[in-house]
Amino acid sequence: MIALTYDDGPSAYTPVVLDALSRYDGHATFFVVGTSVTRYADSLRRAVAMGCEIGNHTYDHSNLKNLSNVQVQSVVNRTGQAVKDLTGADVRLLRPPYGSYHGATFTAAGMPVILWSIDTLDWKTRSTSATIQCVEQKAYDGAIVLMHDLHQPTVQAADAIMKHLKSAGYQLVTVSEMAAYRGGLDAHKAYTQFRKS
Ligand SMILES: [Zn+2]
Repeated sequence: MIALTYDDGPSAYTPVVLDALSRYDGHATFFVVGTSVTRYADSLRRAVAMGCEIGNHTYDHSNLKNLSNVQVQSVVNRTGQAVKDLTGADVRLLRPPYGSYHGATFTAAGMPVILWSIDTLDWKTRSTSATIQCVEQKAYDGAIVLMHDLHQPTVQAADAIMKHLKSAGYQLVTVSEMAAYRGGLDAHKAYTQFRKS
C-alpha cells in the first residue's frame, strides 16, 4: 500500500489527478485549503464520490506554530465545515502547512497530524520527470508521498507515477485506508508512514 497525498488544492489542475486515479482504480488524499474549496467544489465532490479522502490543510495555509489555540481551531474548523457543506464528507486528518505544529495543536484541532515520508520537492523542482523519478525510486510499502496539486508539472506526473506503482503491485490508498490496516489513528499523534508492524 502507498498513500499519495496532494496539498494546497483544490486547483484547476486537480481533475488531472482524478482522471489518473480513475484510470488506475486508485484513491488519494487531498489536503485542501479552505480558501479554494468553494471555487473548485466540483473537483472536491468528484474526489469524494471516487472514494478519495479530503484532509485539512487549514483555511489560509497558516503556520500553526504562530497561532493561538483558538486561532488554530478557527482555521481548522472553517475548512472542515466548508468541505462538509460542499461534499457531506467529514474531514478527520490535519496536515499542518510547512509540517509546522506544536503540542497544543492536537487538542485544538482534535485530529491526528499527517506528515509524510517521501517528499518529492515538486513545488521546488516544478519538474514532471523529477517528481516521477523521486516516487519511483523511493516508493515502499506504507509510505506517505507528499505532492501539490497546485502545480501543473506535478499533476502531469500523476499518470506515470500511478501506472508504475500499480504495475509494481501497490494499492493506491487513502491515508485513513492505510491507517485502518496498520494500527489505526490516534488523534493525539503525528504520523509519517504506516509500516506493517
Ligand atoms: Zn501546503
